[in-house]
Amino acid sequence: MFPEALQEALNEQIQREFYAAYLYLSMAAYFEAINLPGFASWMRHQSEEEVGHAMRLFNFVNDRGGRVILQAIEQPPAEFESPLAAFEAALAHEQRVTRHINDIYELAVRENDYPTQVELHWFITEQVEEEHMASQIVEQLRMVGDQPVGLLMMDKMLGEREGEEE
Ligand code: MG
Repeated sequence: MFPEALQEALNEQIQREFYAAYLYLSMAAYFEAINLPGFASWMRHQSEEEVGHAMRLFNFVNDRGGRVILQAIEQPPAEFESPLAAFEAALAHEQRVTRHINDIYELAVRENDYPTQVELHWFITEQVEEEHMASQIVEQLRMVGDQPVGLLMMDKMLGEREGEEE
């Protein structure tokens, strides 16, 4: 028995993960446009990871005999004031995702749905990593300020990120 309320909450979460993928892809386009290909590549990897998150939940809902209902994905912003503003927006989105994951976990506890609790453990751990990465880059961008050399060094560093499994 897969509680209806939980299915709905997970369907909404699938939408949020796809929105994150769309948001980060939009940020990749922004970074390409301002000639920071390393930042763009990092965002592209991040976007792919978010699709992985959405598909993980998609598979989970199906495996439980639930019904995935895909929801509309809103248009992400295309322009950002600065690289710092883009990463601050990314961090804010991840903090929002964390709050929703926690809410869904609480719902799974209330509904005594153990498989969802176990599935969400992975996401809870992942969110610690996501927030850590984004806030570290935000802090480094604050350090760099308006210095082009620092920005170009960060671009090189972020461009070295390899694709990950999820
Ligand atoms: Mg995610």
